[in-house]
Amino acid sequence: MNRPAKTKVEKIQAVRGMNDLLPEDSPAWQYLEALVADVVQRYAYREIRFPILDQTELFKRSIGEVTDIVEKEMYTFLDRNELSLTLRPEGTASCVRACEQHGLLYNQVQRLWYMGPMFRYEKPQKGRLRQFHQIGVEAFGIETADIDAELLVVTARLWEELGISDAVTLQLNTLGTSDDRKRFKADLVSYLDARKDQLDEDSQRRLATNPLRILDSKNSDTQALLNDAPSLMDYIDADSLAHFEQLKTLLDAAGIAYEINPRLVRGLDYYGKTVFEWVTTRLGAQGTVCAGGRYDGLVEQLGGRPVPAVGFAMGIERLVLLLQELDVLPVALSQSIDAYFICDGDVTVESLKMAEQIRSQIPWLRLQVHCGGGKFKRQMKKAVDSGASIALVLNEDGAASGSLTLKYLSQEKEQTTLPLQEAISLMQAEINE
Ligand code: ATP
Ligand code: MG
Repeated sequence: MNRPAKTKVEKIQAVRGMNDLLPEDSPAWQYLEALVADVVQRYAYREIRFPILDQTELFKRSIGEVTDIVEKEMYTFLDRNELSLTLRPEGTASCVRACEQHGLLYNQVQRLWYMGPMFRYEKPQKGRLRQFHQIGVEAFGIETADIDAELLVVTARLWEELGISDAVTLQLNTLGTSDDRKRFKADLVSYLDARKDQLDEDSQRRLATNPLRILDSKNSDTQALLNDAPSLMDYIDADSLAHFEQLKTLLDAAGIAYEINPRLVRGLDYYGKTVFEWVTTRLGAQGTVCAGGRYDGLVEQLGGRPVPAVGFAMGIERLVLLLQELDVLPVALSQSIDAYFICDGDVTVESLKMAEQIRSQIPWLRLQVHCGGGKFKRQMKKAVDSGASIALVLNEDGAASGSLTLKYLSQEKEQTTLPLQEAISLMQAEINE
């Protein structure tokens, strides 16, 4: 037969900046995610899930038209019905949208958390991806600083339990009210406008669009120029200052150290009063592992009745990098199995039944059953390579009599053949949970 010449099929690669999480790395993620879920739930936060995309308008109205995210980082497209949709670049906007839509906010307190992928069209580098993952925590309905403090206490406990407390520091600032910022912006702009030629290119552009962001410019000349610029702290109203003082008092009482950083502004428009970042010096340029603040105006801005709110989000990729960098992941995270079940001969049906009986009686046992047939010797090699401490061998005699052979792979010990029930008891005694 004449076969057509084979054309080489080109392999499709992942989208740039969007990582696959491989089995070897997933235990670290599972560990982190489970620990965070556990800690926040101990503080009575409940999980909320919302779609990974929403109408584009939602993000424009909340994050702000002239922010980096909305200006150049969103994954926006038209669906088949010409509706403009955007893959969520962060969680707060969708969280508020969902809560409002289901009547969870008005006259109620809600403590919520969520976790999942976020999307931003950024320049991919270490700790900066186009699909990244956040765990977000939001508290609605409380305007006093005790809840701001609670959120910081939760994160501090989390760092403690993860073993990274020594590697992260808390930076704190207050942004006051939108009036305060308006007055400050005007003075900042006239100061910087007079020195425009000394500003870096990004900051020159921001002078017209988002002047507050100039404060956290990474450019050292720009930073030097800011030393004599008006300071936001001098524009903060009495109410915001009192709120800030109360927060500091509570953090002191909780033993949480912080640095006041008067140039800390966030990249999203909705923040007012408290803003904070947990930063590390261990990850190079992408040092912020968790960031957040108060956003009392957002719910109203999205069409709801006013509801005070405060929240934060942490970046899972950066936290995993930090856990690896500090070598504080628990050793027991490996996913090696306890026992490998070998099917010697025509015993497929009995193997399935026995393995299920074993699993019912020893629920914590990680048991892998050989599938796909093959010679005993080959299966035995797989059992050894698997890292299991015991191989369970079922041959045709055993299938007929209901007994099983235990072969020890990690210790010098005679193999033993026992009726299934006795074999189970022995395993329970010998393999520790
Ligand atoms: P950055 O200043 O590092 O760009 P951001 O201010 O844009 O951060 P937020 O929107 O506050 O970040 O998001 C909260 C956290 O999510 C960040 O502190 C960081 O840990 C993580 N994060 C944000 N963007 C990315 C990204 N592109 N890749 C990986 N993690 C990210
Ligand atoms: Mg950013």
